Amino acid sequence: MKTKLMLVLLSAGICWQVHADEIRLPKCQIEDAVETPITFFISESVIKHFDTFVIEGHIQRWLNFSNKALKNSCVPMLRTLDKIVYAPEILGEESEEFEVVHSFLEYYYPGEIERLNSDKAKFYGLVFKKDISQFTSDWCGETMSSVYPQFFTIGLTCVDSVLEHELGHLAWANHDMETLSDQTDGMPFDLSNQVPLSVQSKYKKHSYGYICGGKGTIMAYADETHPFYSSPDISYGDIVCGNAHYADNARVLREHALSLRGK
Ligand SMILES: [Zn+2]
Repeated sequence: MKTKLMLVLLSAGICWQVHADEIRLPKCQIEDAVETPITFFISESVIKHFDTFVIEGHIQRWLNFSNKALKNSCVPMLRTLDKIVYAPEILGEESEEFEVVHSFLEYYYPGEIERLNSDKAKFYGLVFKKDISQFTSDWCGETMSSVYPQFFTIGLTCVDSVLEHELGHLAWANHDMETLSDQTDGMPFDLSNQVPLSVQSKYKKHSYGYICGGKGTIMAYADETHPFYSSPDISYGDIVCGNAHYADNARVLREHALSLRGK
């Protein structure tokens, strides 16, 4: 009898566990997704340490995650591989900061950069070896959307979600409130005041990431990442993973997709 009761309790516990981990996504019919072809420039720091098939495997891993996350978030957008350009001229070393590497790309690959910037839906990134000394150990990518709206850097061995996180920044999605509060000395609500006038209107009040059930949505800083953007329509167990007023990056990405469609 005692054993039976324990079994019942145990199975009840298991049921609860499954329920708590369940991701509930909105139902949506995605039609006519906007394609965003991505070109990856591979720096020398990566070329000399990794075989081609390993590099291409990491890129495919990022793209797969991105497309799953966009679909989960009801965003009509598709990340595709445009080109992989091996760029041994760019070392991926300490002296090469964000603006510097972009200048190198413009210098060595003027035709490519012009082709990429002629279409707003195209994005391009420079791939570094992750552990170069310039960056802190948690560095995995960077953007400067107000100056380079289609360009990002990324570390080859970073987690699956890092590509979509950087592309999220280029769609004007932002970190979670707590992270931004640290990054802005307690002023996370006034992001638009910190950028040039020409791009202030890009910052939307609903463009923050969110942490739910201990995991972050794509734009949040957390040890583990959910495969979706913050959204009041998505829940994890009983916890809603966003807020219509301040944490709806899925909407930010949908609006971005519409703006690209009307390019
Ligand atoms: Zn970020």
